[in-house]
Amino acid sequence: MEKHEQSFDSFLENFKKTVSKLGFKNSTQKDYLLKILYFTDKHLSAEELVKISKDKYKIDMGIATVYRAVKFFEELNIIKSLDVGDGAKRYELNLSLHHDHMICTSCSKIIEFNDDVIEEQQEVVAKSNKFVLKDHIMTIYGICEDCQ
Ligand SMILES: [Zn+2]
Ligand SMILES: [Zn+2]
Repeated sequence: MEKHEQSFDSFLENFKKTVSKLGFKNSTQKDYLLKILYFTDKHLSAEELVKISKDKYKIDMGIATVYRAVKFFEELNIIKSLDVGDGAKRYELNLSLHHDHMICTSCSKIIEFNDDVIEEQQEVVAKSNKFVLKDHIMTIYGICEDCQ
């Protein structure tokens, strides 16, 4: 879901402020990774991030650099990762409205969905266990229509 309320410029500015407040250094490479993740509606792997930065922005980034960057973003809660089951995590910015995922275990396709009944039922289940729900990760693994 690529509908962002914030423009990329203000998103990047906020990110840079946070990073320098925490005492870390900014890097152009990180900026480009965020740009790619901002302007895609896909969930991208580290390999795909390397490829897109090279093809689209002519930036040569090693895979290790990308892994370090996404780890950093994840620690700051700027991105979320998805375990697709093929060993390569997929990443997306943590900006869009809450949604859950369905993952095809055959072709690794990711479908986003939002279901009010599921959302509400989780509140009910949490409450009946005297549990305060703060967040959840819901991923349905299965076979997509094309692969059936
Ligand atoms: Zn499939
Ligand atoms: Zn998603």
